Parts: sequence; C-alpha cells; structure tokens
Amino acid sequence: MIYALFDIDDTMTSMPDGTDRKTSVAMFRQVFGVDADESIANPIGKTEMMIIKEAMEKVGKPIDKVPDEAYKVWGENVAKELQKNPGRVLPGVVELLEALSKNPKVKLELLTGNAPERARAKLESTKLDKFFIDPSSNELVGALGNMAYKREELIEVIKKKLQPDDKFIIIDDSLIGANMVKKYQVSSILVATGNVSEDRLKEFSTNVFPDFGDNRWQKAVSIIESI
Ligand SMILES: [Mg+2]
Repeated sequence: MIYALFDIDDTMTSMPDGTDRKTSVAMFRQVFGVDADESIANPIGKTEMMIIKEAMEKVGKPIDKVPDEAYKVWGENVAKELQKNPGRVLPGVVELLEALSKNPKVKLELLTGNAPERARAKLESTKLDKFFIDPSSNELVGALGNMAYKREELIEVIKKKLQPDDKFIIIDDSLIGANMVKKYQVSSILVATGNVSEDRLKEFSTNVFPDFGDNRWQKAVSIIESI
C-alpha cells in the first residue's frame, strides 16, 4: 500500500485571511483565560500542540499538557467562522484526490499540524472531508496535530501502523515540512502554494510544483503511484 499523506493549510486548501488567528484569540480566552493569539508562536508548519504550548509560554503561563478542550474549542470556533467565510480548495487538488482515491493501492491520509477538530472544520468547509474519513469510525485518518509535539514526530505516528511493504509520500508546502522530508529522507511532493517559493522548496525535494493546476495534478499522481 502507498500512503499519500497530505498537509491541509496551503497545500490542499486556503482559508480566509486570519481565520486561525481570530479564532485562536477566542479559544485562548475561553479555555485558558489569557489574551493571546496563535501568531505569537509563528504557527506555520507547527503542530497545534506546539502552537498552543509556545503561545502559553510567551504569555508567561506555561502548560505541561494541552487539554482536549483547547483543540475542541478552537475547532468549533473555526467551524463557525468558516460558515460565514468558507475556505477554498487550491487548483487541481480535487482532481488529484479523486484520481488517487480510485487506485486501490493508494490510501489517502493526513499529515497535518491541525488537531482533528480544526482539520475537520477546514475539510468540511472545502468538501474534502470525504477523502479523509474512515467510514467505520467516522474519524479523520492520519497523523494530526494533537498526536505529537514536533511535526517530524508525526512521521513516527504513521510508521507505527505501516506493514513492511508499505510506502509513504508526504505532500506539503511549509519550510518545516520541507526540512522534515529532507532530514528523514522520505518521499515528498512540495507545492509552492504557501509562503515558500518554488526555488526554495527545490533545495529540499526533487518533486516541486507551483500548484496542481493546469493538469499538473496528473504528474503528481504518477509520482505518487511510482514511489
Ligand atoms: Mg501547510
């Protein structure tokens, strides 16, 4: 089996400006009683566990463990916000996911910094949730941002469930994601739809796309199917 592990933000989808930041302010207030927002933790590419812990450190209220309540409330806030201003799917992503989901040798999963609640809100808003939900449990599949502190530790979450013949490939846009695939020498497709340029991403992977539009998704399918 080939596991195609997709990041969400700026890889498959784009959320309206400030969605995560605005909704984090309400979550920090409601759950921890502090004035904070996620941007103080430089959140791009980080896990939700790391973002919340770093932000709490920055405001002088460090925590040992992120309570489930924080993930839940942030996710609910994002879902409400996206009902008013929905996210959008990036070019070629639906075609890419549809083609891969027809191949019985490929399994679509997530490798994302978002915890399940926030991931679900974004995927439902963009109607991509159907590609990543296990119908038997009705839960998202993959390695998510409440399962590890560092993004690279999410690779271990995936590896634990692999059989000896299984392979995986990571599809991501961030510098943290790019560093991760290079450091661990794992197959990757990097896409310059976030805040990192195509040229910069080429330092980390041989498979770099400006986006999956103009039928470039077809090339991505063949890369994934031939790892
Ligand atoms: Mg991303």
